[in-house]
Amino acid sequence: MRRKLVVGNWKMHGSRPANAELLSALIAARPYGADVAVCVPYVFLTETAATLAGSELRWGAQDVSAHEQGAYTGEVSAAMLAECGCRYAIVGHSERRAYHGESDQLVADKARAALARGVTPIVCVGETLAEREADQTEAVVKRQLSAVIHTLAHCAGEIVVAYEPVWAIGTGRTATPQQAQQVHAVLRAQLQAATGHGQRVRILYGGSVKPDNAAELFGQADIDGGLVGGASLKAADFVAICRAAG
Ligand code: PEP
Repeated sequence: MRRKLVVGNWKMHGSRPANAELLSALIAARPYGADVAVCVPYVFLTETAATLAGSELRWGAQDVSAHEQGAYTGEVSAAMLAECGCRYAIVGHSERRAYHGESDQLVADKARAALARGVTPIVCVGETLAEREADQTEAVVKRQLSAVIHTLAHCAGEIVVAYEPVWAIGTGRTATPQQAQQVHAVLRAQLQAATGHGQRVRILYGGSVKPDNAAELFGQADIDGGLVGGASLKAADFVAICRAAG
């Protein structure tokens, strides 16, 4: 039985006072009956760790370098994330694929770097609207995941996957639970065929998850929780979404 997981992706939002308020509301609303984590901008990791230490809430980063260390100005290594107590690092978010030109192989290398330091990569996959309309959804998400599976080999069962249709991120358009479930089932079958551990990997849905659609999405057989952007910045909404997973 896979325990549900809800991860907040703060993106480039937050400030010290706003974070303190949000995190204390999340702490106060425990327990959730599901695993809950927040992925925050790098500069807030240390404070987030100090605030959440001792609670069962986890924290993580929104990216990680594929390199171990060295002359890579502006990058942050998996070892540094581990030192900050990160449980998770998002890799391959569609905003990074689109705005920073991240390839499937770079995303896979980032996932490998994270796992090597004990940080669980949350590997994002998802199709654009044009790809969905061209009936390419399955081919696209399988191609994206297959780069990670091949790079990680026997460790591929250790990742978390997030299916995030690009057309649903930050748009208010959500995949229907049936549309999402269909893709999740494809991804699970791919993981099962490649690693034998498909039943163990948590596959999250992301894309305009809100309190009013969370329960139905999380009720699908292969949807193991959510990766939540906008709604993770509003304490009441995020708490409601986490409770819907419990
Ligand atoms: C995301 O950023 O991963 C995301 C799913 O955003 P939103 O919930 O705002 O659509």
